[in-house]
Amino acid sequence: MRADLIIVGAGMVGSTLALALEHSGLDILIVDGSPLSVAPFDVQAPFEPRVSALSMASQRILERLGAWQGIATRRACPYGEMRVWDGSGTGSIHFAAASVHAETLGHIVENRVVQDALLERLHDSQIGLLPGARLEQLRRSGDDWLLTLTDGRQLRAPLLVAADGANSAVRRLAGCATREWDYLHHAIVTSVRCERAHQATAWQRFTDDGPLAFLPLAGPAGEHWCSIVWSTVPVEAERLMALDDEAFCIELSKAFESRLGKVLHADRRLCIPLRQRHAKRYVEPGLALIGDAAHTIHPLAGQGVNLGFLDAAVLAEVLLHAAERGECLSDERVLSRFERRRMPHNLAMMAAMEGFQRLFQADPLPLRLLRNVGLDLVDGQAEAKALFVRQALGLAGDLPELARA
Ligand SMILES: Cc1cc2nc3c(=O)[nH]c(=O)nc-3n(C[C@H](O)[C@H](O)[C@H](O)COP(=O)(O)OP(=O)(O)OC[C@H]3O[C@@H](n4cnc5c(N)ncnc54)[C@H](O)[C@@H]3O)c2cc1C
Repeated sequence: MRADLIIVGAGMVGSTLALALEHSGLDILIVDGSPLSVAPFDVQAPFEPRVSALSMASQRILERLGAWQGIATRRACPYGEMRVWDGSGTGSIHFAAASVHAETLGHIVENRVVQDALLERLHDSQIGLLPGARLEQLRRSGDDWLLTLTDGRQLRAPLLVAADGANSAVRRLAGCATREWDYLHHAIVTSVRCERAHQATAWQRFTDDGPLAFLPLAGPAGEHWCSIVWSTVPVEAERLMALDDEAFCIELSKAFESRLGKVLHADRRLCIPLRQRHAKRYVEPGLALIGDAAHTIHPLAGQGVNLGFLDAAVLAEVLLHAAERGECLSDERVLSRFERRRMPHNLAMMAAMEGFQRLFQADPLPLRLLRNVGLDLVDGQAEAKALFVRQALGLAGDLPELARA
């Protein structure tokens, strides 16, 4: 089977790229090892443990691609405020969408919901979709890439995009170098029911072992649900995972200073080792890496997939402009335009997250004092906070058309 463009990975980021190129006239094939089926949404079903805080920029991209409707009609929780505080001091900071005249800071959405809304759109499009297609081998064949799937099928295309996630097979098989290191943190994720309402606020407490986030979910009337991301050192994560539900809820309430009252119930827990990874290059002739295949960052600011959506939107824009000018899309000079626009932005975000994480894990007293005073100081600076809010909305920097107002 041959196509102009093959996208490996129909996750949130790969699907977004395919839809952004829907009207490009390119013959596109998107392949994924999973069945790519869309289950009917059941509002009574428990929350999925994996959620994302989608920025305004991501919302705009998904709206323009016709996928936001599918999210809004399933389940999404808007939040207008964010409260961050230092668990070992008195420093705190509060951000509000209203400070930049925005309605929300973003939406907390289950990854499954985003994925299904995108897949629904893909199934309705003319884009070639190949489910159950797991990439096993990759090599150059003339001007094409030749892909061999685990069942022996072969696919070829002059342009290949890796959107196959953090452990990208494309990246490995193409020999793309990465810089990576362990955060020495695991993240425990689950959904919890709290005694008190979440107030449409994303809460984050920095504990001595790492950040603990409570993200608001749209639960049934009268119930107060949050998704939690509890990042901590591996040995502590193992201990917390081994606790029974009741003991886990007690420990969680304590670690969160019972800001939302008692944690009354916790769903199934997942424990995810956190690793920072960044490809040294996002492109080579005929190949581009996007989303987690190009970079994974600490979830403390909830930016991973937001960066991925911007990658997809910028790559689509670069390819569409190049096609208009009659350029060869697999030319490295064309693909480098995507890398030049996205790499500095992604690196800056990763560096900021790294700095935050180190500052809040620092033990020496002067650093603790500094960060507490710093938090309070910034909290009093309306302009500095407005800048941060614009970053959180994803509206800072070089935005692709799809993310602009
Ligand atoms: C604890 C935690 C919390 C997070 N919270 C947030 C948040 O609040 N906000 C945010 O923006 N981000 C968050 N992230 C990051 C976010 O989850 C990721 O950035 C996002 O899921 C990456 O999407 P992707 O499409 O690039 O990759 P993936 O979602 O990993 O998709 C990859 C796809 O490729 C397919 N695939 C893989 N290998 C092959 C192969 N060999 N052949 C064919 N197909 C293949 C898979 O089946 C899958 O469909 C969080 C991450 C973690 C760990």
